[in-house]
Amino acid sequence: MGQLRRKKDNYFYSSATNAGEALRERLAASPFLIRLKPFPDELFTSFMARTAVIHLMDPVTFANFHYPEERNDFFNRDKDLSVSGATLEKSAYKCRVPVERLRRTTLSSYEGILWEKIYPTTRNRFVLNPMIRGRYARRNGIRFCPECLKEEDYFRKRWRLSFSTVCPKHRCYLHECCPECGKPLTITKRMHDIQEFNCYGCGLVFRDAEALPVHPESKVAENLRHIYDAMDSGWAVVDGSPMYALSWFIVLAQITKLIYNRGCRNHPLLQKEMDIAGLRSIDPPRKSSPVQDAPLIAHAAIYTAAVEILKSGENLKRYIRENHITPTNLLRDMGYVPFWYDEIVYGFMPRTLTPCDAEIESAIAYMERHRMPLILRHLNILMGTYFDSGSRSDLFQGFMSRRDAYMANLGEYAKKRG
Ligand SMILES: [Zn+2]
Ligand SMILES: [Zn+2]
Repeated sequence: MGQLRRKKDNYFYSSATNAGEALRERLAASPFLIRLKPFPDELFTSFMARTAVIHLMDPVTFANFHYPEERNDFFNRDKDLSVSGATLEKSAYKCRVPVERLRRTTLSSYEGILWEKIYPTTRNRFVLNPMIRGRYARRNGIRFCPECLKEEDYFRKRWRLSFSTVCPKHRCYLHECCPECGKPLTITKRMHDIQEFNCYGCGLVFRDAEALPVHPESKVAENLRHIYDAMDSGWAVVDGSPMYALSWFIVLAQITKLIYNRGCRNHPLLQKEMDIAGLRSIDPPRKSSPVQDAPLIAHAAIYTAAVEILKSGENLKRYIRENHITPTNLLRDMGYVPFWYDEIVYGFMPRTLTPCDAEIESAIAYMERHRMPLILRHLNILMGTYFDSGSRSDLFQGFMSRRDAYMANLGEYAKKRG
């Protein structure tokens, strides 16, 4: 027995140049010593940070020991967005959690609900981008509710999403950065070596932060619950009919863009929410910058209004009318247009009629009588319609040939006069 153990140890000490490396090799291949389970809706990095801290290790050092193949880069990127399948498998083995459960801690679990497909390297709509450089977030990429942290000290996955501006349970605003020093949150870094998540910049224990209550008259919590319901159930109800969550979120993104980027802000609830939050105006964004760049209270007002607009077709139509939004802007940059939305936008399309041959004949006669130049614009004005040359090319050709004949006649006439 003793011989066997010696043999094993010899193996470890001979294959590595020193004891430290032997330990590294062993840690890299073995399960975690203490194995936690992810909480419901816990975020991957939150789970990894908690696991590291319970081993009395800094999360970065811990990751370096257990994932040497990541070459010190484990937390050097947005891991909740970009964690690889291999790393997930390995982590599942190390913490003895089914890999499917672990996959649910990543943002890619929203695939098929918020987007068709998530892209690990570019921006994804609704996802706050922390812009991690050198393992620190350079921008506000995650928010938190101090009251939720008091109940259970872990970071919720939905706090990474731009519409999560308040906590519907505690009716308070989320903090988008450290309320003490203003630094963007980096939950894998901390100042104090304690269990509780704390700010690496000033040491503030996040669960001790003050909660800012939401105004009782605000609809922000109620409408956010509407978004969460769609996210959790996989569908939303509009005008009494169910609609795939994915379709609904595509339209939600489009409406927030109209409000924020295109300045279509004529909406009573938007105004009310802005007044409640003491927000005088929402600054126009830099060129095509996403809603994420607006401050949190502006976010809250924009999403609250957007959800209200999407509650019924009537609401949407009123919003379009009151802001004079053109179909081009309604559909701009939309790869896929959900049917429900398409139908409403169609109602705002300019009427495309295709007049019959006889009508064009008489219109030409009229133009000739009144010595109007025979051009398409005049035909459109006369018939009070938009003559679609593409869909009825036969009529269009007819019109053009008659016009050519007329012009030729005019030429003859001018020659005679000359
Ligand atoms: Zn809360
Ligand atoms: Zn701080």
